Amino acid sequence: MNYTTNTMSPYTEQSFGHPLAGIRFVIERNFLRMKSDHESEIAQCDAILSGIVEGSDSKKKLASQVREQHLRMLRDLESGYLFDKLHEIEKIFAVFGMKTVLLPIRYCTKKPFHDDWPNLKFEDTCEVSYCEDLISGNIGIVQGEASENLVSVDVDSDQDFIDFLKLNPRLSRSVKTRGSRGGNLWLRMTGEYPRVSPVKRLSIEEKWGEFRGTGGQTVVYGRHPSFEDYKILLMDQPQEIVECEFDEIIWPASVIAPRRSEARGAVEASQKAVIQQFVRRNQTFPNTGKSSPTDALKKQFDLATFAMECIPGASFHSKGVMISCPFHVERTPSCYVKVDHFHCFGCEERGDAFSLIMKQYGISFPQARNLIEKVVASGLM
Ligand SMILES: [Zn+2]
Repeated sequence: MNYTTNTMSPYTEQSFGHPLAGIRFVIERNFLRMKSDHESEIAQCDAILSGIVEGSDSKKKLASQVREQHLRMLRDLESGYLFDKLHEIEKIFAVFGMKTVLLPIRYCTKKPFHDDWPNLKFEDTCEVSYCEDLISGNIGIVQGEASENLVSVDVDSDQDFIDFLKLNPRLSRSVKTRGSRGGNLWLRMTGEYPRVSPVKRLSIEEKWGEFRGTGGQTVVYGRHPSFEDYKILLMDQPQEIVECEFDEIIWPASVIAPRRSEARGAVEASQKAVIQQFVRRNQTFPNTGKSSPTDALKKQFDLATFAMECIPGASFHSKGVMISCPFHVERTPSCYVKVDHFHCFGCEERGDAFSLIMKQYGISFPQARNLIEKVVASGLM
């Protein structure tokens, strides 16, 4: 392994140049402490057994048993099992990249040790206390920007995972991991890509999987809550993270594909063009009087789909489609859009399709109604 160790005095909580150096330091420290504990227990038993320390026959018998136990534990320790974790983590870095942000996860769970993990940077993972956490449970990977644009496509079922790999022959050569069912295909993104976004089936309200970009994490090592071990698939073969653009990923026809903010799937490109024509012409929307009643119109209009199609930067989230709020200035989107309403958690503004579209495009109510009518009439929603 090619990583550097900062010169440092032992037993100080310091930062290393790379987590592997920190982990080695922590394991060696634990090794020496445990070794010295066992040796001192053995020495105490020896003292009793040799008569240096006085003791009854039963005390001697006990000392003999205790001595055996510590001797056995010392032999186990010297066999190097403590260093197994270091070797496993070396493999993880070798497979996923030396600048990957590893995440300590509680054993047998998917829950990170640290609540603020989405803000972790590689440098944070070089601290000794962080390295101690890393060797004490499961290990995850922070995805997206933190780990040099390392992302994964998480597919929930085994069959869907196999089908997805078949759809993407070049990408399917990349690293694949598995918890208890389905799998994750790991990719390194060049260019733009979405944050973590659920991938839903078209027909039913059911999740197919998830695209895990920035904001996502995936466990790759340790024990799944189902007691199966996380594993890198085909570990006996050479492992390579395939680089690709987000648009190269081919999604099954049965799912709603997540979208890069600007780029859309080829299928939806024509739909988007039609809607954007309406939006671009918003200055000249005629204020026609002949319109269907507002409530009936609202029922036919899917605001979430519209936002996803037409508002730049919109992304899928578990709570709905998320956009940058048009009612207040913000750096990270906090406005949730659902089928029939929106709610901003930044400024508490809420309302229906009309108020969002009027504000978003700076148009009047009749113009917004005209836009919605045209979108509904086009059969796109
Ligand atoms: Zn707002």
